[in-house]
Amino acid sequence: MILARPVPIRDWLPDQLPQGDLRSISLHWTAHDYAAVFPAYHFCLAGAEDVVVHHTHDLRENMREVYQEPELPYAAHTRGRNSYSIGISIAAMRGSTPSDFGEFPLTRPQLDAMCRLAAGLARFYEIDVAAIRTHAEAALDDGYFGAGSDELRWDIARLRPSADPLEPHEATVTGDWFRNRVAELLVLAR
Ligand SMILES: [Zn+2]
Repeated sequence: MILARPVPIRDWLPDQLPQGDLRSISLHWTAHDYAAVFPAYHFCLAGAEDVVVHHTHDLRENMREVYQEPELPYAAHTRGRNSYSIGISIAAMRGSTPSDFGEFPLTRPQLDAMCRLAAGLARFYEIDVAAIRTHAEAALDDGYFGAGSDELRWDIARLRPSADPLEPHEATVTGDWFRNRVAELLVLAR
């Protein structure tokens, strides 16, 4: 489900969004290429340099306790944590490992775009910066943090590849990096 034409991140504004109750934002990568977008997320950020925002799922479907009526549609982006929650994802990281980000590594413009999008959504829905968290942080809390298996998640625990073994604390460090940048953007926008 594509709700609108993709727009360049520099032109994106939260002006067409539905009013309602959304309480958290979950940050992801798609583990595909720079173009593919998915309705498991509400927004996908495509393109490596000129990043565009695709609105891929209706936010209203997650403005509820989704597990009370799981047969109704919603964006299923973070296991067990989709109620009142927005999922946003960077289109990148197909075939990546912690030591080799592959053919479609995260780019600086994509990371900047994710912070800008998260800040705009947080401001519009009055979401606390502390409620902006990576999938890796949720996975750490819920016991499925890690790389190398389909069951495990590490998006977005590392911003650049490294030969060092992936450590759980990296999820928190990188989550803090996103939250600090979003907080700065929110101050600038005041
Ligand atoms: Zn994810």
